[in-house]
Amino acid sequence: MAKLKVVPDRVEERQHLPEVKKNYGVLKNYINGEWVDAEASKLEDVENPATGEIIAQVPLSTARETAKAVEAAQEAWLEWRETPPVTRVRYFFKLRDLMEQHFENISRVQVQEHGKAIDEARGETRRAIENVEVATGVTSLMMGYTLEDGAAAGIDEEAIRSPLGVFASISPFNFPAMIPFWFWPYAVACGNTYIVKPSKQVPLTQEYIFELIHQADFPPGVISLVNGSHEVADALMDHPLVKGISFVGSTPVAHYVYRKCAENRKRVQAQGGAKNSLVVMPDCVLNRTVANMLSSFYGCTGQRCLAGANLVAVGDIYQKLKDKFVEGAKRIKVGYGLDETVNMGPVISGDAKKKIEGYIATGVKEGAKLILDGRNIKVDGYPKGYFIGPTVFDNVTPDMTIAKEEIFGPVVSIIRVKDIDEAIDLIHSSPFGNAASIYTQSGPAAREFRYRVHCGNIGINIGIVAAMAYFPFAGSKDSFFGDLHGQGEDAINFFTDRKVVITRWF
Ligand code: NAD
Repeated sequence: MAKLKVVPDRVEERQHLPEVKKNYGVLKNYINGEWVDAEASKLEDVENPATGEIIAQVPLSTARETAKAVEAAQEAWLEWRETPPVTRVRYFFKLRDLMEQHFENISRVQVQEHGKAIDEARGETRRAIENVEVATGVTSLMMGYTLEDGAAAGIDEEAIRSPLGVFASISPFNFPAMIPFWFWPYAVACGNTYIVKPSKQVPLTQEYIFELIHQADFPPGVISLVNGSHEVADALMDHPLVKGISFVGSTPVAHYVYRKCAENRKRVQAQGGAKNSLVVMPDCVLNRTVANMLSSFYGCTGQRCLAGANLVAVGDIYQKLKDKFVEGAKRIKVGYGLDETVNMGPVISGDAKKKIEGYIATGVKEGAKLILDGRNIKVDGYPKGYFIGPTVFDNVTPDMTIAKEEIFGPVVSIIRVKDIDEAIDLIHSSPFGNAASIYTQSGPAAREFRYRVHCGNIGINIGIVAAMAYFPFAGSKDSFFGDLHGQGEDAINFFTDRKVVITRWF
């Protein structure tokens, strides 16, 4: 067996790795175990948001070719379903080794198309691999349960987990590598077949990973890739052979997907947008709190569903907290993510930049005090990049637009409250329920926060509550429509049917 390449820890070693391509040309779809040209006549440019260069063209595939992928997946399912779980997971062990070997390039492609800093991309690649690792446990995870004499004396009862058929995912732009991995490894390990539709803004990372999937030799049709936009998403949701959809994206689209799948009698898990509050109590450990919050607010340039958005200062911590936070925000180095010294990359596109700058203008108009303005930032060597520097508003009140709506950029709103009750009321006034964090050394305060706050992901002295692969990636209210989440045991339940068998022998 080839020796597993360990991810180099030292930056100098990483820099000797081969470069990724500068231009990937017209992308293909991967259907029935083959790379195929899309029939689509429409192509869209994929842009490197730091350099402004066109790095590929993505086809907007049609409903017809999406249906071909579904039919191939259905055909493949008949055999895959009968392939023993222990055999199914061998493909995942192979894929995992390939992903480790290509760890650095998977991360670099993400930076090219998304703009995030290289270390953030490495973290994302690691998360994707961890989902493959957890899915290899399907031989245990998928087991059913039996109760002797469960129905009556001499009559046993058992529940079996069975795969259902073809599933598909529709993903957003902000985590090009990881998000499809919250779902498909579990679905496929459980004996279903799968179709991935990446965001048309960031299709390259999945294109790269699918070459590894191809090398891992999954049987044709077991896992397919269809590039495109709404037409592909709708075709997947409308196709009668698709049994379920895993969606991640903005709340309006999540709601649409949830309704449409219900109408089409499909299983659905639909993760939506967010507006997360980070609550800082007077007894926090200030230095560590601020360091942790800076990565929550500005990591991934604020384009993270788990990013902090409102910085809620409780009581008399306000002044010290604000000063330290702004001081730290000013030190963040903005630039091209492939530069190892850069902390924060550009936002995804010109449209996103305009939208975020529009929110900053609204904040000023509504009376918030702009104490750090990231507009008009210049990054040497990258005049065409969509950069916005760290931005901080002070004197924000809960009724202001910037305190309520998802900005999805590096913009922080500082809101003062008198106590923990007011902080929790503020969190509950939001229709979103993705994440909330508290920074404190008080056990009772932390416990109260955890107990009372209606959000799927709760952080205690942690600002990015990203569940590990063996826990569900939670979310509630308008941040999640459905009941079973991605990852871990929830994913196993979503991708299997619990069939009950009652047996009596005469
Ligand atoms: P988006 O909703 O614009 O797009 C997501 C996906 O839906 C894309 O693949 C897109 O092609 C497809 N899509 C868009 N409009 C559609 C329509 N009308 N019909 C069918 N399909 C459609 O989201 P985005 O801008 O790519 O991603 C950012 C959003 O995702 C943010 O709101 C963020 O909070 C959210 N997000 C949530 C989570 C979570 O776990 N809750 C994780 C990551 C991102």
